[in-house]
Amino acid sequence: MSKKDYYEVLSVSRNASEAEIKKAYRRLAMKHHPDRNPDDKEAEESFKEAKEAYEILSDERKRAAYDQFGHAGVDTSAAGGPGYGAGAGGNFSDIFGDVFGDIFGGGGGGGPGSRASRGSDLRYNLDLSLEEAVKGTTVKIKIPTYKTCNTCSGSGAKKGTKPQTCATCGGHGQVRMQQGFFSLQQACPKCQGKGTVVTDPCKTCHGQGRVKEQKTLSVKIPPGVDNGDRIRLSGEGESGGMGGPTGDLYVQINVREHSIFTRDDNNLFCEVPINFVTAALGGELDVPTLDGRVKLKIPHETQTGRMFRMRGKGIKSVRSSIVGDLFCKVVVETPVRLTPKQKELLNELEGTMSGTAGHHSPKTHSWLDGVKKFFEEL
Ligand SMILES: [Zn+2]
Ligand SMILES: [Zn+2]
Repeated sequence: MSKKDYYEVLSVSRNASEAEIKKAYRRLAMKHHPDRNPDDKEAEESFKEAKEAYEILSDERKRAAYDQFGHAGVDTSAAGGPGYGAGAGGNFSDIFGDVFGDIFGGGGGGGPGSRASRGSDLRYNLDLSLEEAVKGTTVKIKIPTYKTCNTCSGSGAKKGTKPQTCATCGGHGQVRMQQGFFSLQQACPKCQGKGTVVTDPCKTCHGQGRVKEQKTLSVKIPPGVDNGDRIRLSGEGESGGMGGPTGDLYVQINVREHSIFTRDDNNLFCEVPINFVTAALGGELDVPTLDGRVKLKIPHETQTGRMFRMRGKGIKSVRSSIVGDLFCKVVVETPVRLTPKQKELLNELEGTMSGTAGHHSPKTHSWLDGVKKFFEEL
């Protein structure tokens, strides 16, 4: 399937500013959002397309890679594949959180009022090294949690006393309120619906009936997770009031910077310095990958900044079987601390090339031509 050009998808020019891109995306996302177009396959497609285009073009590095290599430079098949929507990746139903949060205000779904007495969701920020994120790991995390107070067995009343029946609601926990024609039933404001009030609170829990505690959880991190991914641990959030359901715990992944690699989706990028002799004559380099060193053949006459792509040496996607590539950018290094002898040799080399400009340095030559033309037309 050939993909549409990202700039065309967003109807922006190739040199559109960040703000223009964002604006274009918002407009399309609002128009095609699945919530606004239920059961409309076409809208869903358009939404996905716009989202993918935005993800690439809003990211300076991804955009540069896209500009240089086209779709091949930004492998998005993981994000744009069949895994669209909630539930596709089990734990990763929140992949869209950020974009929605940005546009529609407030993260996460949940209908109005549906969480009245549900415990709060908790978020845990987890720092991982790139290697851990790529290979997966199991981490033990400590989270604060509430458990029933042992002293009062959860009643909240001081030892030897009991919670008293609430006088306001007569122990029903509910009160009727007259509002115009309607009679509404509400939770009792005095006892918050419990039907009882604590007059002599337990010293351990200060009448709360529960105490804070550290809980240790073992969290399995699947291989391939990236910055901003969230893993939901169902039922590991705060306990709900009044026997309501417990909230969830979201483990938010933050991948620390790596000394050699930068990551972009499933692709890895690194810079490899080479000396100018290897650049000119060609040779072989040892380049690092996450699975150890591999040989990279450098062809002769390699210019600085040239990008070499090593297929399949990137990261395996957490959502599919796709494996990204490793991009090595070679940077020609100017030699330093030369001895007089070395300088002499370089001068000698320079001498053999002078007068033949354009032959050995085509770029310099055409650049000089451009400069000349510039001044002539001035
Ligand atoms: Zn207590
Ligand atoms: Zn009451």
